[in-house]
Amino acid sequence: MFDKILIANRGEIALRILRAAKELGIATVAVHSTADADAMHVRLADESVCIGPPAARESYLNIPSIIAACEITGADAVHPGYGFLSENARFAEVLAHHNIGFIGPKAEHIRVMGDKIEAKRTAKRLGIPCVPGSEGGITDPEEAKRVAAEIGYPVLVKAASGGGGRGMKVARTEGDLEQALTMARTEAKAAFGDDAVYLEKYLTKPRHIEVQILGDGRGGAVHLAERDCSLQRRHQKVWEEGGSPALDAAMRAEIGGICANAMRQLSYLGAGTIEFLYEDGQFYFIEMNTRIQVEHPVTEMITGIDLVNEQIRVAAGGGLSVVQEDIRVEGHAIECRINAEHPATFRPSPGLITYFHPPGGLGVRVDSAAFQGYRIPPNYDSLIGKLIVHGRTRNECLMRLRRALDEFVVDGIDTTLPLFRTLVRNADVQNGDYDIHWLEDFLAREGLSETDPKR
Ligand code: ADP
Repeated sequence: MFDKILIANRGEIALRILRAAKELGIATVAVHSTADADAMHVRLADESVCIGPPAARESYLNIPSIIAACEITGADAVHPGYGFLSENARFAEVLAHHNIGFIGPKAEHIRVMGDKIEAKRTAKRLGIPCVPGSEGGITDPEEAKRVAAEIGYPVLVKAASGGGGRGMKVARTEGDLEQALTMARTEAKAAFGDDAVYLEKYLTKPRHIEVQILGDGRGGAVHLAERDCSLQRRHQKVWEEGGSPALDAAMRAEIGGICANAMRQLSYLGAGTIEFLYEDGQFYFIEMNTRIQVEHPVTEMITGIDLVNEQIRVAAGGGLSVVQEDIRVEGHAIECRINAEHPATFRPSPGLITYFHPPGGLGVRVDSAAFQGYRIPPNYDSLIGKLIVHGRTRNECLMRLRRALDEFVVDGIDTTLPLFRTLVRNADVQNGDYDIHWLEDFLAREGLSETDPKR
């Protein structure tokens, strides 16, 4: 087992990792930018190192500084959390070169899954169902027309190095295609420095359903059921739940089995998420995330398994603590991402939290690094905490969530709490009757999506 873990992240996920390390009796090192000197992850870690100025590029993304922090403190492993360096294959290789463990997958798997065309090719080879589309990248408009005619309109042009929904354009007819192709390539080049794009059938009313997996890196892998993350705004997840209101136990076992089997073939190491769109009873692979995800607590609440603890164990060369037969889904869990944003304009609202009272009680979990008197710096994403609620049934979970949301007080800044108080009372949400477009349509209908001219 590792003796000392350096956490190359900040905010609630840094705390989440600290907690798992402490329970394992492993010493912890926090790194932070100058903007985060007073942050909770710095206060709770055994040691801390300042690694640079506020800009993430010069601190949380600064590989030489992080390696130096490992050497100064004698950390023998790094946990990257999510975002920042978590899906950077080169970072994993540099750590290996310095004999420092990386608590994440093998570099080759990060690299394959980071390229969407390569990821899709790999998924297909491993027996994972994919969205019909082009076999590889497309540059020639005539070839695009041929492929689009084959798969049928509408089609989606997607960037191979895409992320955060950028570089995606829908073409409803052949007349739209050339322009969609040009626009997607230009946007992809500007955002990712790579203009490779590919085509996919555009699904009109899918749900987003993702399967959590864990691999031991030696050919053993399990799945831990699914999360439904269909409630999204601008391709960003807002509300996540497990299990999906659209699946039953047999469907869960089937898609989970396909994913676990694929990971066994890869000898995948660590935690990962295989993301699908789900429409008319069919699953379509869209991408794989080779890291712990923001919404991982949903899975922890319904399975009772500590995913970060498992990540650390397998990275240190130990096996998984569970076999598939032990993993049972108990009850239902919902997570709300509480952002420091205006609930209607979604404009970021950094600043001083003058009062902070998180909810409690049976089945209520709050993962947050915020506290009364904390000043949210303007330099990073606006997630200030996650409220995760568990109940024996989905109905009990919804009742408990409504109560917990009403109890949550955050003063001094705007938060998205009022949006969740509205959502939990909405009939479609209560019935689980929503797809990936539902939330944006709802916000437009309710006049809750005033466009902020600054964004
Ligand atoms: P990114 O890496 O940019 O987030 P994804 O491939 O994960 O890109 O897609 C992001 C979102 O875009 C999905 O959650 C879904 O809402 C939408 N999307 C992606 N592919 C399709 C498709 N073929 N049809 C319809 N919507 C899609």
